[in-house]
Amino acid sequence: MDASLYLSARLQVLADLSARRQATPDLVSVLEDAVAARRWWAEQWPEGEIYVAGLVAQDVQDAAIDAGSRWPLCLTCPDAPEHALHIEPDLGGPDPVWVCEESGEAVAELGRLS
Ligand SMILES: [Zn+2]
Repeated sequence: MDASLYLSARLQVLADLSARRQATPDLVSVLEDAVAARRWWAEQWPEGEIYVAGLVAQDVQDAAIDAGSRWPLCLTCPDAPEHALHIEPDLGGPDPVWVCEESGEAVAELGRLS
């Protein structure tokens, strides 16, 4: 088991929250909990490690929706009503990318939102 995996999942999601100025104390705390929970999960099932970063991003996204905000919003589509990005592959990995809900186009790798 590789501890750097969890560190980098945390950093990637934190970078994307910060990129959109949504690294609030509440969501950062959700992020910490999600990393801990997914780490426990991957320790039971080591093949799951490749899904961890994307799953953590989805956990934080779900928590943001529950709190009444959306993260991350698509900033790419012109003239479209407000819409979000989602992680593909849906399973969380491998190589998770943010994809626009409307256009279906990849916007950025996880951790690389601008
Ligand atoms: Zn879009």
